[in-house]
Amino acid sequence: MQLIRLFIRRLLFPIIIFGYLTVGMTIAAQPYALVIHGGSGNIDPQSVSEERKEAYLGKMAEALKVGEEMLKNGAASLDVVETVVKIMEDSPLFNAGKGAVFNIDGKNELDASIMCGATHNAGSVAGLSTIKNPVSAARKVMEESPHVMLTGKSADAFAYEHGLEMVDPGYFFDQIRWDQYREYVRNTFNRDRGQSIPADDDLKMGTVGAVALDLEGNIAAATSTGGMTGKYPGRVGDSPLIGAGNYASNLSCGVSATGHGEFFIRNMVAYDIAARVLYKGQTLEEAANEVINGKLKEQNANGGIIAIDKDGNVVMVFNTTAMFRGYINSSGEKGAWIFREE
Ligand code: ASP
Repeated sequence: MQLIRLFIRRLLFPIIIFGYLTVGMTIAAQPYALVIHGGSGNIDPQSVSEERKEAYLGKMAEALKVGEEMLKNGAASLDVVETVVKIMEDSPLFNAGKGAVFNIDGKNELDASIMCGATHNAGSVAGLSTIKNPVSAARKVMEESPHVMLTGKSADAFAYEHGLEMVDPGYFFDQIRWDQYREYVRNTFNRDRGQSIPADDDLKMGTVGAVALDLEGNIAAATSTGGMTGKYPGRVGDSPLIGAGNYASNLSCGVSATGHGEFFIRNMVAYDIAARVLYKGQTLEEAANEVINGKLKEQNANGGIIAIDKDGNVVMVFNTTAMFRGYINSSGEKGAWIFREE
């Protein structure tokens, strides 16, 4: 009896306490974080009304709050980025889902992608016209097909067959976007279609994206867009292209981009940043700065990225005057911003 008591006091008890503390500290040490964007561009702060600024900041705060609750409660980063991007797709404020910009034929063609940093699985869709939430269609492609990317009518059909909500193409209509399209047609469209000129920044603002790191240490990234006002029908931008507008790897970081898609494709922006972190040992901040404020700026390419590395560092880097952006993390930091000087 004496021996058993001694064993419990001297050995078993300390082992249990030690184990409890070690596991507890390991759990506490795993940070979570979520960063979102709602597009970038060179916009004059005076051109956005206070009311509209409030609306943007409010919608981003709502998305961040939903994502924060999910992460706190142990949700997977994939579920978080999909949910958060859906909130922004459903808002007409952003150029994704409802409120997407119009192509030169006056139609909406939606692109989206999602990637899981734990498995490196990815899914994407381009040129959707009837699926309410393109990001969910991208996830269906990732999880329920052997493919990475589906396009056009087949992508719509696949998403519908896999249970996603279908809408009339008119659902995506937004009067402000339509007025921007009309202005584009009046001012900048060169009659030769092959020479269609990309719209000004403020006519295409609002691609959305999210990157999350969860309590399991898994990173995921998602991006969704209507592309660029006046784009040629069938044009695919960077947002649905894995490595260009979206990328996630637990080995390095997750990245979601916004900006002039053609440049982001040529420079493989999202993957370039991740590769610099992984192979060059650069910090996420250094890597993002060299690509966005170095390489892209030299090419006169506008845009920005949001990203999170495996340690929970959040970066929001852009070479424009504005990027709708915000983040939360497990240290309690949070905020949402529009312009650079804030
Ligand atoms: N990157 C998007 C595209 O080129 C547009 C944007 O982010 O504003 O389709």
